[in-house]
Amino acid sequence: MSLDTTAVHGGYHPGNGEPRQVPIYQSTTWRYESSAEMGKLFDLEKSGYFYTRLANPTNDTVAAKIAELEGGSAAMLTSSGQAANFFAVFNIASSGDHVVAASTIYGGTYNLFAVTMKRMGIDFTFVDPECSDEELESAFRPNTKCVFGETLANPALVVLDIERFAHAAHSHGVPLIVDNTFPTPLHCRPIEWGADIVTHSTTKYMDGHGASVGGAIVDSGNFDWMAHADKFPGLTEPDDSYHGVVYAKDFGLEAAFITKATAQLMRDFGAIQSPQNAFYVSLGLESLHLRMERHIENAQKVAEYLEGHEKVAWVRYPGLKSDQYYERAQKYMPNGTCGVVSFGVEGGREKAEKFMGKLKVAQIATHVADARTCCLHPASSTHRQMSDDELVAAGISPDLVRLSCGIESADDLISDIEQAFASI
Ligand SMILES: *Cc1c(COP(=O)(O)O)cnc(C)c1O
Repeated sequence: MSLDTTAVHGGYHPGNGEPRQVPIYQSTTWRYESSAEMGKLFDLEKSGYFYTRLANPTNDTVAAKIAELEGGSAAMLTSSGQAANFFAVFNIASSGDHVVAASTIYGGTYNLFAVTMKRMGIDFTFVDPECSDEELESAFRPNTKCVFGETLANPALVVLDIERFAHAAHSHGVPLIVDNTFPTPLHCRPIEWGADIVTHSTTKYMDGHGASVGGAIVDSGNFDWMAHADKFPGLTEPDDSYHGVVYAKDFGLEAAFITKATAQLMRDFGAIQSPQNAFYVSLGLESLHLRMERHIENAQKVAEYLEGHEKVAWVRYPGLKSDQYYERAQKYMPNGTCGVVSFGVEGGREKAEKFMGKLKVAQIATHVADARTCCLHPASSTHRQMSDDELVAAGISPDLVRLSCGIESADDLISDIEQAFASI
């Protein structure tokens, strides 16, 4: 079936007389007839639910739809995109280990890796996603446990060469983890290009209405942990906290990664998405294919308009023929990329701030990827502690405006931009 149909029906197939909409299991706990029966769940001998800190049927239904959309074997929801990326990496990398990551990843993820996970004893080497093969090769160490990148970087809009990064990871016996938040599985299917684990901030297009923070992890089921057993003892050796379960053996390639993340990381960290929020994500997913089409159509029109404007210094959008990532986007995201456009306002920082203040439809917000158009001037908000030189080094020029095109009329968005430029 087409992914459009999966977006509507995936993950949930009600039986005779059952609700057509995904039920919200608003319950902390489940009742059992005997302690022995519940004990089997605690030993991972039987699958089932007992406490929502670890798992909840509403979440699992929505995760199953996301797994189908990505073409994965198993998935789980997390409380945020940050939690998804943390779990995805921490599930296979511990103190003393090392990770190779693209330098253009989302600022929140960069901070999670470079500051917080570094404090946990995990080392990161950040590589320019356009680096030479030799540079990429030299980033690996004997203790490297995975490679991490974003299929479409937020906000740099760099299109990752997924095949190249997957090949590099696999030649070192480690998986490639990619954050596929911006294109969504409807516009990029990283597993088909060799990615092993896919993460999402469901907060963005999947929820799509700016209503709920959440994340997801999808496992392809393709990475053979046992073939590199010495690198991944957490999956290939007995887990004493579950009476010696060996995830890669007892749950198979399809379920090992997600079962371990649920049984250990959800149990201990509890970064679970609330079933109510999972329901909102589920509602969002039902119209994801329609909304993405409009987000992309609007962004394309806005980017083309901006490209011809005298008060615009530069435009970055992978759907523009002039964009440096156009060709690669055609390969990995042939039906369009996302609704986010970055551009520079002629006259720099001060003019960019002024321009944004004059917008009437586009709202100033730190968000991206919801139904309402919003914009951000990183130099005066999220990155305001940096000097102009530091901003340029981080790939964020002082004149940069990040515009997340919503699903309004493109004509109204362009008129809004036009009137804002006219008044500065
Ligand atoms: C927003 C975002 C995140 C973080 O997700 P939260 O849901 O805000 O925790 C991670 N990766 C990308 C690409 C994002 O855009």
